[in-house]
Amino acid sequence: MKQFAVIGNPIEHSLSPDLHNYVYKLLSINALYKKKKVFHSELSQIMDDLRTGELNGVNVTIPHKENVIEYLDEINPRAKTIGAVNVIHKNGDKLFGNNTDWFGFTSALKKNGIKVSGKEVIVLGAGGTSKSIIFSLKQSGVKKIVLLNRTLQKAEELQDDFVFPYSLDDSVQKIRNDSIIINTTPIGMQNEQCPIDLGLLHENQTLIDVIYTPMETAFLKLGKKIGAKTLNGLDMFIYQGLTSMDLWFGEDISKKVNFTQLNTYLKNKLC
Ligand code: NAP
Repeated sequence: MKQFAVIGNPIEHSLSPDLHNYVYKLLSINALYKKKKVFHSELSQIMDDLRTGELNGVNVTIPHKENVIEYLDEINPRAKTIGAVNVIHKNGDKLFGNNTDWFGFTSALKKNGIKVSGKEVIVLGAGGTSKSIIFSLKQSGVKKIVLLNRTLQKAEELQDDFVFPYSLDDSVQKIRNDSIIINTTPIGMQNEQCPIDLGLLHENQTLIDVIYTPMETAFLKLGKKIGAKTLNGLDMFIYQGLTSMDLWFGEDISKKVNFTQLNTYLKNKLC
């Protein structure tokens, strides 16, 4: 039986085992997917497990998407440009890193009719997921990305012709009543906090949170209440997971799965 896992810390919130094991069962794939709480110091052991075949593939989540890169033999060119890896598999005797988060985000925008082409978008957070989202936004033809991060220097490292870095403390000056705001920080995942002052939220905004546990963070909850368009991270999560499976099994597993049924199954797990 093939063995897969998602590695990260914290990891309790992850629905990846539910998503993957649902599909394995549906398609009679002889495989098992687990979640593993992994500290930075344990990453090399995970790589050994991949090399020896004890593990056949892993998804990588917070906070390791960037720091796994140094352990890998090859990186997909897009993942290299992004600077973050969320899926690893063995190719021959080499460990290969890829990124399906950006595609997951692009697909989620498309599915939910959110258009960013030619627009200014506010991105909160400058970690691994933020990098994938910035890549996705550029691919989708965004005009300008206002990147707000707690540590200004990390946002400045991502500055280019599209990305304009600021401190999260500048949100009052940068957020407008009709902004598209994407939260890529984990704020709201384990508490009722919001990455920006709730008073900055407005009915004409589009609010996107990459968090899916809980399904509605305080950011989305208040936004929805006042009439803003909101989107949580579940669709992105499903698309990145299905694309990971396509990479591991070398076939179009994603095309054999009914997205709506899978979405409903996972929503029920979260309720
Ligand atoms: P990460 O690399 O550790 O980056 C976290 C970012 O959030 C950093 O910019 C960090 O700012 C900021 N941040 C963290 N705590 C903060 C706080 N208390 N106040 C202000 N800023 C804070 O994490 P990641 O891998 O990008 O993951 C971020 C989130 O995305 C997680 O909740 C994860 O579950 C979610 N995610 C969802 C999907 C999906 O498919 N829906 C996919 C991937 C990730 P500093 O630079 O100042 O440290």
